[in-house]
Amino acid sequence: MKVLLCRPRGFCAGVERAIETVERALTKFGRPVYVRHEIVHNQVVVRDLEQKGAIFVEHLTQVPTGSHVIFSAHGVAPEVFREAGRLALHAIDATCPLVTKVHVEARRFAARGYTILLIGHADHVEVEGVVGEAPDRTLVVATPADAERVQVPDPERVAVLTQTTLSVDEAMRVMDVLKRRFPKLATPRKEDICYATTNRQMAVKSLRGQVDLWLVIGDRMSSNSNRLRELGADMGVPAHLVLTADELQPQWFAGARAVGITSGASTPESSVRAVVDRLRALGATELEEIDGIPETVEFSLPHEVR
Ligand code: SF4
Repeated sequence: MKVLLCRPRGFCAGVERAIETVERALTKFGRPVYVRHEIVHNQVVVRDLEQKGAIFVEHLTQVPTGSHVIFSAHGVAPEVFREAGRLALHAIDATCPLVTKVHVEARRFAARGYTILLIGHADHVEVEGVVGEAPDRTLVVATPADAERVQVPDPERVAVLTQTTLSVDEAMRVMDVLKRRFPKLATPRKEDICYATTNRQMAVKSLRGQVDLWLVIGDRMSSNSNRLRELGADMGVPAHLVLTADELQPQWFAGARAVGITSGASTPESSVRAVVDRLRALGATELEEIDGIPETVEFSLPHEVR
């Protein structure tokens, strides 16, 4: 059995920045540091940071007055910043700059009187944050069927934005419907689906027809990991999303000659290495890294922890 390892995979620049923000805050301000929501959607990362002294909460009311609280890479609505102020918390914003860009676009379109159609999943925390920029003007559309149905007050003033971690192909199908229905649809200056999501999906697509089974290493909460698994499954082969090597089931690999591996943008490389080691124990004899688009993106840290 051969293992084909996609590159790029794993941590993106936004995730690296968010994790480093928590680690630096712990060093600078001491334990504990509070984090609103999982800093990134990966339980391995979250448990590691918990051991280092981070406390994860879902509501700012759980944070003692005067404490430092970090906002996760997924971003928060403006109301959350205001609430932190009311509660006298020291907020540190670890929102990925590429998510912040979508917030800025939402504010810009809302100020110009547009209805914003946000392509994404309504229950995802990133989408909740963007909607919070202009709740009265934003409608979430997830599928082409949603795009066919959505009603807006003025079809001449409609703008579209997208969640950063969608399937590029699915988002394009939704976008095509919206462009047909709203010929004057305003689009962001630059693509919202981020480089990391796009590159990881392209790397998987490049192996179409070459693998008998896909393993995507990532958390079930991770949007981009789920999209990678769906992309593998769309190729007509089994595709499993696993968080750790312990979840591998030997019967998955019966008769498989080539196993493709990738990992979501919030997955540490240690999780991938553990899966590869387990596959070696299950009979993998060859390992090949398949190069995709090189990534050089880096983001500077929030000023509070520089
Ligand atoms: S997946 Fe994209 S948007 Fe999300 S943290 Fe990474 S670079 Fe930023």
